[in-house]
Amino acid sequence: MLLDGKAVAASIRSEIADATSEFIATRGVTPKLAAVLVGENPASQVYVRNKQRACDAAGIGSDLHRLTADCGESELLRLVTTLNHDPSVHGILVQLPLPDSIQSQRILQAIDPNKDVDAFHPENVGRLVQGKPRFVPCTPQGIQQLLIRQKIETSGRRVVVIGRSDIVGKPIACMLGNRGVGGDATVTLCHSRTINLNAIARQAEILIVAIGRPQFVGADMVKPGAVVIDVGIHRTDEGLVGDVDFDAVAPLASAITPVPGGVGPLTVAMLLQNTLRAAQLANSE
Ligand code: NAP
Repeated sequence: MLLDGKAVAASIRSEIADATSEFIATRGVTPKLAAVLVGENPASQVYVRNKQRACDAAGIGSDLHRLTADCGESELLRLVTTLNHDPSVHGILVQLPLPDSIQSQRILQAIDPNKDVDAFHPENVGRLVQGKPRFVPCTPQGIQQLLIRQKIETSGRRVVVIGRSDIVGKPIACMLGNRGVGGDATVTLCHSRTINLNAIARQAEILIVAIGRPQFVGADMVKPGAVVIDVGIHRTDEGLVGDVDFDAVAPLASAITPVPGGVGPLTVAMLLQNTLRAAQLANSE
């Protein structure tokens, strides 16, 4: 089965559009995202444009704040502080990666945790680990929603996550191991120091790959019948490919995400979800 992230994302986006218009009608407030783009990274420009378009389609406001690559940490911190104090802004997104001269962690920690729609602030990371999230990071949330909505049971199942980044691998491993719907799995987290990676990956009933290496996972790493979630995105001469060798793995897998059209569209949908939630939290009685 092909796990059609684009279709699932479209239905989530339509639910968010309905919830947003109801929120605006009852509260008289339009949820708003402030996106911050530093420098001219072409991929980042595309991502930010897509996020703004998605906001627009859902009835969520969005502003783009652009700084030059040489702006320096203090100018960026000043902008974040201004946005923190602006009551018309509910969500703040600083597009990564930032230029090498800026310490990303310092910036992410400066964002008001109540406006932290990427959920990278330590307070929100801590809440997620404790199973009491305020915001759930977008890509892992998209993966979990895809599993839930495609009725792929996680409870009691053996999950292997390859990649331990702060934005994908670590949070999805944590979420799938937490109690509750879309969780309760037995999770193994693998990385570049893992010994016998192939053998461990082959034990997975659900294999989640976020390593940033094009077509790294082949048929020899996948148990027949496994569900395979490919988070990777790579531009090649033949177009976009993931971290999984799709042609080799698809015949073996019971379900697999394509690239493009798998996890990517869900990430954007979840950003909208988090922005609406931020506005709801700011305007709750
Ligand atoms: P990342 O920060 O690049 O980290 C890569 C992880 O993979 C690290 O934990 C690394 O291990 C591990 N790794 C690298 N080579 C390995 C190997 N040979 N065997 C086992 N583990 C290995 O990861 P990321 O930011 O999560 O990005 C991963 C991919 O997902 C990229 O292609 C990125 O573009 C894509 N992505 C897509 C979306 C989306 O919306 N679809 C969102 C975010 C990221 P160590 O920790 O030991 O170095």
